This record gives sequence, C-alpha cells and structure tokens, in this order.
Amino acid sequence: MRIILMGGPGAGKGTQANPLVERFHIPHISTGDMFRAAIKEGTAMGLKAKSFMDAGGLVPDEVTIGIVEERLAQPDCAAGFLLDGFPRTLAQGSALAEILDRLGIKLDGVINIEVAHEVLIPRLTGRRICRTCGSSYHMVFNKPEKEGVCQCGGELYQRSDDTIETAENRLNVYNKQTEPLIAFYEEKGLVKRINGDQPIDKVFQDILQALG
Ligand code: ADP
Ligand code: AMP
Repeated sequence: MRIILMGGPGAGKGTQANPLVERFHIPHISTGDMFRAAIKEGTAMGLKAKSFMDAGGLVPDEVTIGIVEERLAQPDCAAGFLLDGFPRTLAQGSALAEILDRLGIKLDGVINIEVAHEVLIPRLTGRRICRTCGSSYHMVFNKPEKEGVCQCGGELYQRSDDTIETAENRLNVYNKQTEPLIAFYEEKGLVKRINGDQPIDKVFQDILQALG
C-alpha cells in the first residue's frame, strides 16, 4: 500500500498514520518527524530546518525533497509506505512523481482529511506529543489516561510551533502552497476525501473504506 496523507496542520494526519501503518505493515514517513529528529540530533540539516519551522514556514524544497528521496530508497519502503506531511508544495509533488516513475511505483491513493479551518487552530494549540513514541494527544479532544503521560509511559510535551501565532501562519502557508496539490492529485484520480471532523475511530474507518 502506497499512500499519501494530506490535510491542513492539525487535520489528524499523525493521529491516523499510527493505526494505518500498523494495519498495512508499512513505514510511516513524516517529514515533520524527520526534521524534529534532525534538530534533536543537532545535524546541519536540522539547524537549517529549525528557523523555517519556528516561523511556521516551509523548509526549502531542495532540502525536503532530498531527505524523502533518500528515505524512499531504503529497503523497508519497497513493499509500501505512508507519506505524512509530504508533499506540501507543487514542486515537491512533481519531484515525487519523478522519483516514483524512476522506481516504477504507483500510488494507491491520496487521503485528504478535510477539517474546517476554525476547527484546526484549537486542535493545534491543545496538542500534546509523546517524547518517546511521537503519539499525538489533545488536552480536550483526545486526553491521555494519565495527565502528561503517554500510553507508552513517555512524557507529553507541547511542540514549540503549536502556539496561536505560528499555527495561524502555518494555516496561511497551507492555503497558499499546499492546497493547490489537491487539484494536482484530483487530475490523476487519486484523491479520497475524508471528513476529519468526526471521532478519531470513525475517521479511521472511513479511510479504510476509501482505500478499499
Ligand atoms: P496533523 O498530524 O495533521 O498535524 P494531529 O494528528 O497531530 O494532526 O492532530 C492534531 C490534534 O488534533 C491532536 O491534538 C490530536 O489529538 C487532535 N485530533 C486528531 N484527530 C482528531 C479528531 N478526529 N477529533 C478531535 N481531535 C482530533
Ligand atoms: P508537521 O510535523 O507535518 O506539522 O511539520 C512541522 C513543520 O516541519 C512544518 O511547519 C514545516 O516547517 C516543516 N515541514 C514538514 N514537512 C515539510 C514539507 N514537506 N515541506 C516543507 N516543510 C515541511
């Protein structure tokens, strides 16, 4: 199964990615997670990405495309993958099409998780992430059993880009740069529209149904 998960920031991509990769036994490729790991490790790429991420902007295409190209060449992607947060620009979409052509691979579907923009901001500002496994929780909509602690025992934290100002900036960037990609994939007949403003389990069931 080769899937792209699309949707605005806070639409629920990371939340749905976990059960999807478990179900299909495929790697979860999140460019945001890859950049955060690089920042934590203090690599040159992480340093470069940090300023863009802190401002709520996009990391330049050449950096982002390069890391995805390298990742897709790893043997664990041979039987499938789930891309989460990539592509985010038309240039990234075109580059991905070229990479997949070269590998002789076709996408099974582009899942677009649709959520009204006014719902996205409170989702982002109330989000908490596990330092250990990366699971996404919400202070109101998806509370952990024990406050501040993940199911895996890890500590929950708030992402530095989940402030109200940065969240608004990310939404504007999404509208301008990422939304046009939906038409790009519509033309290829790949888009499966999912109502993301429903309980998490229902969104998952709808995605499974859309994937057939
Ligand atoms: P994305 O990866 O698309 O940025 P996340 O999966 O991290 O978004 O979800 C953003 C926030 O919204 C998290 O706090 C998450 O717990 C919460 N969330 C995800 N899906 C839903 C849903 N269907 N209903 C309510 N809250 C949700
Ligand atoms: P995410 O974890 O998907 O919310 O991404 C967090 C941040 O990482 C984004 O706001 C961007 O700054 C950066 N980022 C993640 N994926 C991409 C991408 N495909 N292109 C450019 N920047 C990205």
